Amino acid sequence: MQLRAEDIKDHHSGLHIEQSVDQYPILAQLVKDGGYVFRTPVQVDVHVSVVGGVIELDGHIQVEVEIPCGRCLTPSVYSLSGDFHQSFVEELPNITGEDGEELELTAEEMGLELFDGEAIDLDDEVQQQVVLLLPAHPLCDEACKGLCVECGANLNEEPCECAEKKVSMHFAALKDFKVEK
Ligand SMILES: [Zn+2]
Ligand SMILES: [Zn+2]
Repeated sequence: MQLRAEDIKDHHSGLHIEQSVDQYPILAQLVKDGGYVFRTPVQVDVHVSVVGGVIELDGHIQVEVEIPCGRCLTPSVYSLSGDFHQSFVEELPNITGEDGEELELTAEEMGLELFDGEAIDLDDEVQQQVVLLLPAHPLCDEACKGLCVECGANLNEEPCECAEKKVSMHFAALKDFKVEK
């Protein structure tokens, strides 16, 4: 959804947004390519305020997602929730240093985000925040043994025979090995 600047000028408002993951392109991509399964819509509570030309968003995000383990692909459920804060300005303020020189700071360095003065793309903000909440290395368990690279068996469930076979082949090679005198 788009937050139109003219609708939020001079007043404070709270919004509750509940949208399915299809509305967020980056998250929809995770579903399509990454095997992610979102079990709830993305729930967003956001408080919007305008302070001296700066639009401030204070939000809270909550969503439940199943993510396949990075080693064995077994899905685990993650309840993600987190707060975010973002300030938007139409143009960057001029900031001068102690010596009166103008400082060249980027929007990021000032903790600000630029917008076109018309509208803020709230959906984009929300999907970026959800991505930040995702676990970087999802694992079903820290000790997950993963899948066998030879036969694809889930090594957490039972050891496959590939490792054993390798060992016996190693011994078979040794049998023919003769030490020269
Ligand atoms: Zn695993
Ligand atoms: Zn195997």
